[in-house]
Amino acid sequence: MPVDTEIKVELPNAKDAFEALSQKRAVVNYASIDNRRKRLKKLLQWIMKNRDRIKAAVYKDFQKPGVEVDVTEIYPVTGEIKQALTHLDQWMRPTKVDATITYLGTRSEIRYEPKGVCLIISPWNFPFNLSVGPLVSCLAAGNAALLKPSEDTPNTSKLIAEMVDEVFEDEVMVMQGGKELATEILAMPFDHIFFTGSPGVGKIVMKAAAENLTSVTLELGGKSPCVVHKSANIKDTAKRIAFGKFLNNGQTCIAPDYILVEEGIKNKLITELKSQVNKLFGEEGQISEKASSYGRVINERHFDRLNDLMQDAIEKGGKLELSGEIRKAPRFFHPVIISDVPLNARVMMEEIFGPILPVVTYKEESEVIKVINSKPKPLALYFFGSDKKFREAVLQQTSAGSVCINDCVLQFTHPNLPFGGVNNSGIGKSHGYYGFLAFSNEKPVLKQKRGFALSYFFYPPFTNRMKALIEPILRWL
Ligand code: NAD
Repeated sequence: MPVDTEIKVELPNAKDAFEALSQKRAVVNYASIDNRRKRLKKLLQWIMKNRDRIKAAVYKDFQKPGVEVDVTEIYPVTGEIKQALTHLDQWMRPTKVDATITYLGTRSEIRYEPKGVCLIISPWNFPFNLSVGPLVSCLAAGNAALLKPSEDTPNTSKLIAEMVDEVFEDEVMVMQGGKELATEILAMPFDHIFFTGSPGVGKIVMKAAAENLTSVTLELGGKSPCVVHKSANIKDTAKRIAFGKFLNNGQTCIAPDYILVEEGIKNKLITELKSQVNKLFGEEGQISEKASSYGRVINERHFDRLNDLMQDAIEKGGKLELSGEIRKAPRFFHPVIISDVPLNARVMMEEIFGPILPVVTYKEESEVIKVINSKPKPLALYFFGSDKKFREAVLQQTSAGSVCINDCVLQFTHPNLPFGGVNNSGIGKSHGYYGFLAFSNEKPVLKQKRGFALSYFFYPPFTNRMKALIEPILRWL
């Protein structure tokens, strides 16, 4: 079904929206499990019924192929909903906590209360998935939500607003706009902010949150390294890297950003990568504008940025191993592989976020750890190879938000794994149970019994008898 061509720019008032949601706080926050489930089921039904509309909107924004939308936008969200529907009773159930000796006589548990009114700000690269996915966790945890999707994908953002209108009453609101609107919204004292976007804007969000001491989950980006050891199966490795890198036109936060490959197998890997990229994304042996499995760069600003990154790498001595048509008007950027890239090329210093893959070689294994640790902690780290000793050295001596061994990007959709970054690549975790926790206040509740309590031993006056009692407690308990 086609999406309206006319995009209405709404100018909502952030304060009014926040206040309206705050009014709903009590109703939403005390919602029973049945009500939460009802909301999630309604959302699931809407998504399944409107799959074609979602595909049409995302296609209109950046020509993402329909099947790719199914796999990378719709399935991760429906998976999140089903996971929540199956496990919500278990997630919401208070966790009993054992008493230690000094707490004998008490009973304790951790309850999971909704944080309240939450803000979700999302990016353009998976515009449906990264807006509605966090909303699922937010609703599962029993909150009201204000959602601000990206201004760079206006068709998808408009459809999300329509979806919210059709599915929810007034416990969820959508506001469409860019930086100015986001700034206005961020001034409100939300109970939690879930932000997905660049580390630069993440810092702005965290500063604004600090004004109200609002908790944050920051899902950010960075340069995710991909290490290829000589013990790797080159064919499998190339196929999986080609998929993880050029999916969504390389505009994936966890795409392998650059390859670190052992010198001796570089040529073999590049030959295989070229062949796999063509097989996966090409038609009749080549990747052209007609290729139906290959998307587009989001806008001209990013197109120019990517072109500059590529030119800079070539000027600094990089060797173009794979390239093709690069046309600004249709924002078509053929997959690019560049070898012999010096570490001071921009492509090795900035997050690429597009279809350019630099290949850097190493001789000694220690060089790999040095290169990774010379950059801020990445969102993901990929290791291809069967050499356990080297693999463990890389894992133990570097830090990353997540790791995937002998594959790429799969860790994102695993329903039982937490997803998130570390420091520059993010703060906090999301998905499944971890998403539920991000939007919940883990509230400890301790229940004391009547009459004598062990804690009386520590009440004043601080007599010598009490001092004598404290000695063994400090020593042995
Ligand atoms: P961005 O940071 O430019 O924008 C993200 C959102 O922030 C948008 O909704 C935008 O309107 C809003 N925004 C922009 N300026 C703002 C300001 N000054 N104050 C408040 N809000 C503002 O990011 P992007 O270009 O949309 O997305 C690309 C980045 O997102 C990359 O760095 C990528 O790695 C990262 N990313 C991370 C994840 C993850 O899960 N960790 C997922 C996707 C993308």
